[in-house]
Amino acid sequence: MAFTLPNLPYDFAALEPVIDAKTMQIHHDGHHGAYVKNLNTAIAGKANLESKTAEALISDLVAVPEDIRTAVRNNGGGHVNHSMFWQILAPKDQGGGGEPSGALAAAIVNDFGSVADFKVKFTDVAAKRFGSGWAWLVVKGGKLAIGSTANQDNPLMGEIVGLSGKPVLGLDVWEHAYYLKYQNRRPEYLAAWWQVINWKKIGEIYAAAK
Ligand code: MN
Repeated sequence: MAFTLPNLPYDFAALEPVIDAKTMQIHHDGHHGAYVKNLNTAIAGKANLESKTAEALISDLVAVPEDIRTAVRNNGGGHVNHSMFWQILAPKDQGGGGEPSGALAAAIVNDFGSVADFKVKFTDVAAKRFGSGWAWLVVKGGKLAIGSTANQDNPLMGEIVGLSGKPVLGLDVWEHAYYLKYQNRRPEYLAAWWQVINWKKIGEIYAAAK
């Protein structure tokens, strides 16, 4: 069973002006599409791997043969990361932006002091990730934590990537996520993207993860 590229839950232009349509098209069809294609190529013919979910594959990389392990780490991670990323964004007129609510908001206040403090810390971690990677909010041992990973690494891969836990929110800080509009100005992208964050979806992910 080959992996497939999930459809975006909104149009390419739906996140304008925060994220431009051309970036969304290249990012989804081009980059995410390539991760799916390359993941399928890597595991083709290996029934014990083809039967797993992408999350299960990247959660147990030692079970992947060494000759394709890096390909599965990079492209499986790319597939899982981007599949989450599209879900945790929403157009402003469909709930994007605003503030978290319910149990997620309570946990953020409990673990970071306030939503504002959380945003400052998350933005700082995202800004300081050198080169390509992701900033994460994860739940581990019942607590929320912030961290970042390189390349397409995902906290499900465990301590080998420097951060472990169940992802609640992942923010793509690869240049391909923002370069057409923001060029080298990653801090402007980081400041703007809160306007299209899908707190409702993130709350659902948190409820399932904790
Ligand atoms: Mn990306």
